[in-house]
Amino acid sequence: MSEIPASAPDCLFCRIVAREIPATAVKDGDRVLAFQDVNPQAPTHVLVIPRAHHRDVGALAAADPATLADLVSMAAAVAADAGEDSYRLVFNTGERSGQSVFHVHGHVLAGRPLSWPSG
Ligand code: 5GP
Ligand code: ZN
Repeated sequence: MSEIPASAPDCLFCRIVAREIPATAVKDGDRVLAFQDVNPQAPTHVLVIPRAHHRDVGALAAADPATLADLVSMAAAVAADAGEDSYRLVFNTGERSGQSVFHVHGHVLAGRPLSWPSG
């Protein structure tokens, strides 16, 4: 099995983990952290990421399922802390899905009606 790098050069979210780029933290854990999306699409729009670099949710699941479980639990806690009993957890995966940052992140969206299917 290949080594998983702890961080990747020029990765925006690795730089947020390293505090080289500021972000508004919402929750902080050993392996995952949550911060406000800079361009919110709902009253609650928080990104939850692993501290270690993995390009997408499938890669994280394969390499470190325990951290993926931490990420999902933190997403649920973010919604609960915001007083939301309904939320959407989205992992855009691949360019055609809209993924623009290739460090896995779950979008926690809540606080307004969310239509389905998504666009
Ligand atoms: P994606 O399109 O990859 O699913 O989501 C990337 C998300 O990262 C977008 O919702 C975008 O608003 C957010 N984003 C991009 N750059 C920054 C940044 O510098 N800081 C924060 N907090 N969010 C960012
Ligand atoms: Zn990264």
